[in-house]
Amino acid sequence: MARLLAILNCPLVIHTDFTGKRTAETCFHLYKPALELMEIPCDAEVCIWRNCDIDHVCTRLALKSRWPPLHQFKELNTRLDEKTLTTLSSLRPKKNASKAEKCNAYAKMATAIENKAVSFNRQTRAPCLRHPGMLCPIACMPLVGPIWERRPISISWAGASCLPFTKWGSHEGHSHPDIEAWYIWISEMQQMGYDLIFLEESAQFDPTLFSIPMQKSGYTVISILMGPWHIGWPTGGCRFFACAIKPERFVWLGHLAPEDILKDFLKVFGRRVMTSGSVFCGLDTDENIRDTRERVAECPLIDKPLVQILPPGKRERFLKGVEIAKQKRGIWDNNVFVDMSQVSRNVVSPFMPRATKSSQLVMVDVTQSPSDMLGHVVTPAEMSFSMGVPSVDIPESAADLWRSRFETGVFDLTAACQIKLNGNAISAPMLFAWNTYVLMNIVDRERLMAWQP
Ligand SMILES: [Zn+2]
Repeated sequence: MARLLAILNCPLVIHTDFTGKRTAETCFHLYKPALELMEIPCDAEVCIWRNCDIDHVCTRLALKSRWPPLHQFKELNTRLDEKTLTTLSSLRPKKNASKAEKCNAYAKMATAIENKAVSFNRQTRAPCLRHPGMLCPIACMPLVGPIWERRPISISWAGASCLPFTKWGSHEGHSHPDIEAWYIWISEMQQMGYDLIFLEESAQFDPTLFSIPMQKSGYTVISILMGPWHIGWPTGGCRFFACAIKPERFVWLGHLAPEDILKDFLKVFGRRVMTSGSVFCGLDTDENIRDTRERVAECPLIDKPLVQILPPGKRERFLKGVEIAKQKRGIWDNNVFVDMSQVSRNVVSPFMPRATKSSQLVMVDVTQSPSDMLGHVVTPAEMSFSMGVPSVDIPESAADLWRSRFETGVFDLTAACQIKLNGNAISAPMLFAWNTYVLMNIVDRERLMAWQP
């Protein structure tokens, strides 16, 4: 705790890329009120320096948010100069190129990008949305300005595209178009000298894509694979979390091997899940619950059992899921989720499955016969809520700290927007835990000599 406070009492300058619902930004802003609640005074001064997100909804959320970034950019490629951009266009593979040709082309692009990406466009294109039509002042500024008495800590937080590494991007890896953005991002991270670089990625992500370049630039790199259920939160899925620590600034006091880090992390944050994911169901408004059910059933007959109203393909997947769920009866809670949008993926779980853009989740009670199952079709807001975002109305008592402090823009989004964003959201409880774990295990090198543990 003392170490965490020492970090939080320095000004924090946060740079983010693709944090979707701004979970990372919120996390840093929540430390101060959370500590005050425990009657621990904290001087945390948080500055959201710049944000970048290709998605226009995320961009709008950022600009409208409680803590808007000082500078807002759209695409990562605005960090490259014109010459490099022209080179990249000439190297970019055609859509019908073979996988090997694509891999080869993207590898050439990676070489062209290497050492070229800078955080802010220092040319005159000024793509910053906060400073349209003028040269964004960020182009003339150092990474952290001399505006603080105490030396600030610069932090970069990114939820880089996981498409190349998942089935949603057909596991295309180094031949997936999004890999280009990865090369730009990692090249910037190698050059900008941030004190801490946090990354969230798919569990299938190749960790060496991050660790090798960052270690080459002198950073200490740590990572773990974990799911919300590790920390007592009844949501499924597993994600990769990493952090690169600049040794000139901080000394990492923890383990280095991912399995040792996870063990130590769980000593602090590990909790047994005490409830099934069904706690998230029924929290949304009756109107939204009805709309979701109608949309999934593709008809307005909402009061009938699902088998009667689902279109044939979904009905088949639903029944298959129920069958698997029934086999697990007794091992699991009776409330089980079936994903009707999935054919090949593991479709059944007692935890709320991780939200994706295509999720069509229904919660069923396996003690019932399939022909009687009314089922609860999970709404987009409930799915978002299972990722820790206060997207549904919650009792006033609980809302005080959380809802009033969290970025609330998501609360007003339409269902279609929420579905879209659910696919790229970072789980808030996991982000919080990982972020806090890293901050409590580092010490400012300057303070180390005087440090009394
Ligand atoms: Zn700007």
